[in-house]
Amino acid sequence: MSDYDVIVVGCGPAGLMACGELAKRGVRVLGVDKKPQLDRNIRTVSGYCFLDQPFNHEVIRTEPNGSKTLLHYTENNFTVEYPDHMQGVYHTYMFSDTGKYWQASTTKKPLYHIFDANKCFQARYSWAAKKGAEFLTETLVHNVTQTDQEVTITARTRGKDRTLTCRKLIAADGLSSRIARKTGANAGRQFFAKGPTMEYEMVGVECPYDVGDILFFGKKNFGGMQGALLMLPSPHGPDAFRLETISMLPASNGARLLEYFTQQGPYAHWFKHAEIIDMSGALVELISPMITPYKGNILFVGDSAAFGECLYQSATMAGYMGAVCTQTELEGKKGFEEYTRLWARYFEWVTDSKRMADYLKRTMFTRFFSIREIDFLFDLSRKYPIVMEEAEATPYDYATMLLQSFQAMDEVPQEMKDRMQEIIEADMSSIAMVIGKNQEA
Ligand SMILES: Cc1cc2nc3c(=O)[nH]c(=O)nc-3n(C[C@H](O)[C@H](O)[C@H](O)COP(=O)(O)OP(=O)(O)OC[C@H]3O[C@@H](n4cnc5c(N)ncnc54)[C@H](O)[C@@H]3O)c2cc1C
Repeated sequence: MSDYDVIVVGCGPAGLMACGELAKRGVRVLGVDKKPQLDRNIRTVSGYCFLDQPFNHEVIRTEPNGSKTLLHYTENNFTVEYPDHMQGVYHTYMFSDTGKYWQASTTKKPLYHIFDANKCFQARYSWAAKKGAEFLTETLVHNVTQTDQEVTITARTRGKDRTLTCRKLIAADGLSSRIARKTGANAGRQFFAKGPTMEYEMVGVECPYDVGDILFFGKKNFGGMQGALLMLPSPHGPDAFRLETISMLPASNGARLLEYFTQQGPYAHWFKHAEIIDMSGALVELISPMITPYKGNILFVGDSAAFGECLYQSATMAGYMGAVCTQTELEGKKGFEEYTRLWARYFEWVTDSKRMADYLKRTMFTRFFSIREIDFLFDLSRKYPIVMEEAEATPYDYATMLLQSFQAMDEVPQEMKDRMQEIIEADMSSIAMVIGKNQEA
C-alpha cells in the first residue's frame, strides 16, 4: 500500500488549494515544500488580482464578510476566504525616458485589486491543515519515478533523504518545475526567455500622483542600464509601494537598477524618506504551456505547466480543479483527461499563441516606437485624459486597451495606428523575435 493517496509537491497557491480540497474530500494527502514555513510568502509578487470580471474564463465575485472577504469562484463553484478587505486601484501610468507620462483611470470599477500574499498563504494553509492535510516542510523533492500503480519521490529534509510513495502525484512546484524536468514532461515545450526580478517593498514613498501602478522605462531612468521597473501600490498603506525590476541576467542587474532608481534616478526624491520593509526576488522563465498536463500518475497544476504565470487566483483555481480531477482518477476514472480539457478551456494560451504574446505586450510595446513617437503619444494622452467607467486591464488585455486609446485619437497618424494594430494582432512568433533580440543585447 502506498504511503499516501496523493502527494502534492509544492505548496504555493495551487498546491495548498489542492491539499485542502483533497483532504476535505477524505483523501489521504501530503503536501511537501522546500520552504520552512507555509503560511508566509517569500517570493516576489506584485500583488494584483482581477475580481468581479471575467479572467481566465472564471469570474471571482467578492463578498465582504466583516473584516474578511469571501471570493466566490462562480464557474467552478467554490469559495475561498481572504482575511482582509480588498482594496481597488483606479489609476495606471507609464513614464517614458523623458519624464512624459500616460495615465488611464476608471471611475466606477477598479482596474484591479491588490492583496497581501502573506495573508493568502496564512488563510489557505490554516484551512488546508484544519481539513486534515499533512505537510512536510524544509523538504526538497529531488527525484521522482513511477510505475503503473504508484509514484515514488525522493525527498531531502535537512540533509537527510527519504522515499515516499503515493498513488497519484500532483506537481505544483511552480515555474521551472523539477518534476517536469525529471519526468520528461517538458518535451515539446518551447523556451522563450529567462530573467530575474528584484523587489523592494517600501513605505513612506512620496509619490505625487493618485495611487496607481507605474511602469518606468527608458535608459535615462536607470542610469543607462537596460530594463524597466514596475511600481505597484502595496496594501501596507497609501504611501507604500512595491518596486519590481524587469531586467536581464545576472540577477545583480536587478539590484543595481533598484538602487539607481531610488537613490540617483529622476524620481529619487520620492524615496528620500522611504524605508524598505521587505526585499525579495524571483527568476522568471517563459516557456510555452503543457498541452497535456499529466504523465502517467502525475498531474501538473498551476505554474508548473503554464506559460509565464497563472497568477494566485487562477493557480488556486487550477489547484481546485486538480484536486477534483485527481479524486476522479483515484476512483479509476479518467480524471486527468478531464483536467486536460479544463486546462485548455480556462487558460487561453494553451491553444492560442496570441494570448501568450498579449501577456508580454505591455512591457514590450515601447520597442515598436521611437522616443519621439512615445513622447508625442504621451503628450496627446495628457490632452485627452483617458477616463473610463471600467476597463479590462488584465495582463492580457492591458496593451490592447492602451493602444486602442491612442488609435481613437485623431492626431495620431494612420501609419502609427496601423503599427499599433499590428502589435494588437501579433502572436507569439513575432513577439518571440523581439525577446530574442533583447536577450542577445
Ligand atoms: C515577479 C512576479 C510577480 C508576480 N506578480 C503577481 C501578482 O501580482 N499577482 C498574482 O496573482 N500573481 C503574481 N505572480 C505569479 C504568481 O506568483 C504565480 O502565478 C503563482 O504563485 C503560481 O502558483 P503555483 O502554486 O503554481 O506555484 P508557486 O507559487 O511557484 O509555488 C511552487 C511551490 O513549490 C515549491 N517547490 C518548488 N520546487 C520544489 C521541490 N523540488 N521540492 C519541494 N518544493 C518545491 C516552492 O517552494 C513553492 O512553494 C508573480 C510572479 C512573479 C515572479
